Amino acid sequence: MTDERHPFAELGLDASLVEAVERAGYTEPTQIQKEAIPAVLAGRDVLGMAQTGTGKTAAFTLPMVQRLSLLPHSQAPRGLVVTPTRELAQQIGRAVTTYGASSSIESVVIHGGTPLGPEREELKFGCDVLVATPGRLLDHVKRGNVSLAKIQVLILDEADRMLDMGFIDDVKEIVAATPSSRQTLLFSATMPNGVTWLAHELMTDPVEVRIGFESAAEGIRQVLHPVDWSRKHELLHHLLGEWPDSQVLVFTRTRDTATYLSDFLKGRDVSVAGLHGGKHQDQRDKALERFRDGSVRVLVATNVAARGLDIRGIRHVVNFDVPEDPRDYVHRVGRTARGDDTGDAVSLMASSDWVEIRAIERLLGIHIERRAVPGFEPEVEPPPPEEEPTTEDRPASALRRGIRRRG
Ligand code: AMP
Repeated sequence: MTDERHPFAELGLDASLVEAVERAGYTEPTQIQKEAIPAVLAGRDVLGMAQTGTGKTAAFTLPMVQRLSLLPHSQAPRGLVVTPTRELAQQIGRAVTTYGASSSIESVVIHGGTPLGPEREELKFGCDVLVATPGRLLDHVKRGNVSLAKIQVLILDEADRMLDMGFIDDVKEIVAATPSSRQTLLFSATMPNGVTWLAHELMTDPVEVRIGFESAAEGIRQVLHPVDWSRKHELLHHLLGEWPDSQVLVFTRTRDTATYLSDFLKGRDVSVAGLHGGKHQDQRDKALERFRDGSVRVLVATNVAARGLDIRGIRHVVNFDVPEDPRDYVHRVGRTARGDDTGDAVSLMASSDWVEIRAIERLLGIHIERRAVPGFEPEVEPPPPEEEPTTEDRPASALRRGIRRRG
């Protein structure tokens, strides 16, 4: 079924990539794929405003693989993906392996938190695509372990997050080490000034692709459970009992709460792992792996895990604490209902969370259903939602329209 009528073939992808897409089980391209793939194949720079959950990894990986398989070969990497976290780097590396298999595109993933030596050895063998976090990449570049002089396609993923994490100077240095003739793709969930500036500096006449927040949250049923703060952990335990067959991702605001909650659940014989920035990289990898392969059912995580993690089959995301930044809510709940699936996003709302809930509802322009769980009704009733969520606080009004502008 790799004839011209295949929806991915219509975007310009050749037979080997259409096969890869079929193997992944995708039948229809997502919105961002429809818009970005033809532009990347045409060699255009692309500014993609979309968060994870929209299919953006395939939107840049598929056409990059195709372009690199057509462009002249070299020992030094020709494709470079820079991404803020180790988990994302590993995830993108897996996507390149999957989509690049039949085009013999080889990739290497490098990121902080692991020894330099084995990465240096891998780099010596050469690769087509390098997937890296900024600090570690620069380290290798400065030591002469890898050259970026042959980069033809540069992808900056989650640019807003890289800026938030203070990687701006590293990113600039990395870009400066690549040829100015390269093709540049920049993806970001939001467009703060720093990202707009970066886009302006690095790209030539980019095609802009914007995917709205709410389209990313399609397929997710959202509910708020009002509850007293002191009873949240019991309510969570109760809910886990209601979903016996479900993989559940639970978010907390702090490492301490994550640790406390994992211990509490362990004490109640729930199979649970914890993931937060205070843990060593190998512990984080192990926790994720155990959750991915289903050997633990519940993962309790801080925002470290919120962005980008792609784990199939998460039916429930629970906000044990409501995030301070409403954009993090979108990233967190986007961990369920990946691709074509559906999922539930459940937020436990104590009186201390009311203000944040309002901000989330304003950002999304919706009212999230409030439903107390019998036996866990709070002592103080939460205020009703605002009459009309206002649009002023949204990061960009164009974002909600999910529109595209050709640059
Ligand atoms: P991403 O936004 O790149 O993190 O992708 C989110 C999820 O959607 C991943 O699990 C992908 O495997 C999946 N996905 C990507 N493209 C498609 C598609 N066209 N159809 C169905 N699922 C997809």
